[in-house]
Amino acid sequence: TDIQTDLDARAKELDRAHVFHSWSAQAGLDLPVIAGGSGTTVWDHAGNRMLDFSSQLVNVNIGHQHPAVIAAIQEQAARLATIGPATANLQRGEAAARIVARAPEGMNRVFFTNGGADAIENAIRMARVHAAAKGEVGREKVLSTYRSYHGNTGAAIVATGDWRRMPNEYARGHVHFFGPYLYRSEFWATTPEEESARALHHLERVIQAEGPATIAALLLESVPGTAGVLLPPPGYLSGVRALADRYGIVLILDEVMAGFGRTGRWFAFDGYDVTPDLIAFAKGVNSGYVPVGGVIISDEIAATFDERVFPGGLTYSGHPLAAASIVAALDAMEAEGIVDNARRMGAEAIGPGLVALAEKHEVIGEVRGEGVFWALELVSDRETREPLPAAAMGALKKDLMSRGLLPFTADNRIHVVPPCVVTADEVAEALEIYDAALATVRL
Ligand code: PLP
Repeated sequence: TDIQTDLDARAKELDRAHVFHSWSAQAGLDLPVIAGGSGTTVWDHAGNRMLDFSSQLVNVNIGHQHPAVIAAIQEQAARLATIGPATANLQRGEAAARIVARAPEGMNRVFFTNGGADAIENAIRMARVHAAAKGEVGREKVLSTYRSYHGNTGAAIVATGDWRRMPNEYARGHVHFFGPYLYRSEFWATTPEEESARALHHLERVIQAEGPATIAALLLESVPGTAGVLLPPPGYLSGVRALADRYGIVLILDEVMAGFGRTGRWFAFDGYDVTPDLIAFAKGVNSGYVPVGGVIISDEIAATFDERVFPGGLTYSGHPLAAASIVAALDAMEAEGIVDNARRMGAEAIGPGLVALAEKHEVIGEVRGEGVFWALELVSDRETREPLPAAAMGALKKDLMSRGLLPFTADNRIHVVPPCVVTADEVAEALEIYDAALATVRL
């Protein structure tokens, strides 16, 4: 109706006038209006629907408006809408218990934060204090990869490797290295095994050259997400674990994007032979229905703070609405087999479908991923692997939206990242849209 179309216009008008947006030049932003959603679909006020193959910022793992999560938030709001962190709260405890139940043996504590960035902040803080508590004064550096995103706050943005770090480099003690990425290997590797071994050699040399006794933590996304869904090659994560052990360094795995179902497993690292000391999580733990994140802590690091004050905290640590939403989201994911659905959709529908698209469209240089975590690497030349230019990416993104698909794009890539609840029919519909849109790209 006209009234609903007016609401869309009003939403755009208010947004342009008063809302300041993330990571953007503000003039000329033309963002889609989203008024509602259900499962893998979102719509504007006028009812124009789009398939959400972005899961927003790759966080709505359980899909939009899951009724059990909505009900849990409503019930908790009616019971107790907020409470300070220095209290014992049943929902907070239940949320923590459900999270550690999915973590490796020997990780039994959770520190809750407001999101992913401050989960990383606090994991880094724990690693540094833990080292100092052992008498290893001066173990302060954090090593992380160039191809990474860890969040927008003080240390997290400097630990980040991508372009967003550079205007923000005020935190000290951060060093970067190259992780494995066979398609654009930094190590002249031609096989996954070579890439893995040479990336590990490079990391060990960086550790030695920086001085092992100056390094508090190695920080890695188990599967680098925004940087391109870079599945680690065989032996890499276990090799990093071995280096951390050899040099007495804490291993922090960032599962903010990869965790809680995205790869078709509860944690992405479950698919590899590695146990971290600290796990940062956010996004998929409650699919963002209430902002939350946190750190899962090994018993050894937790023990550091038995008699020593932990120098960190937040007003909303373990907020009851967030806690209730975590309990409901994890229970629903378990009861409805949502993580397994993500695995099956990846193996049976998305993966084969994207490979078929690559056979047809010269512009696809590589398809990689698993579960509901995939990337299409777009190139203007398959031989040279020259990335598809930004203007062509922009046009493709517009075209996908005009065909009814909300995409996730980064650099020269389309990330195919629907909610874990996506159905085979929705995948088929999305593949047709990607197919039609890719056909418009002129090389
Ligand atoms: N770590 C990873 C791997 C992420 O992908 C993100 C967000 O995209 C973050 C950390 C930061 O999370 P947040 O935006 O909730 O602060």
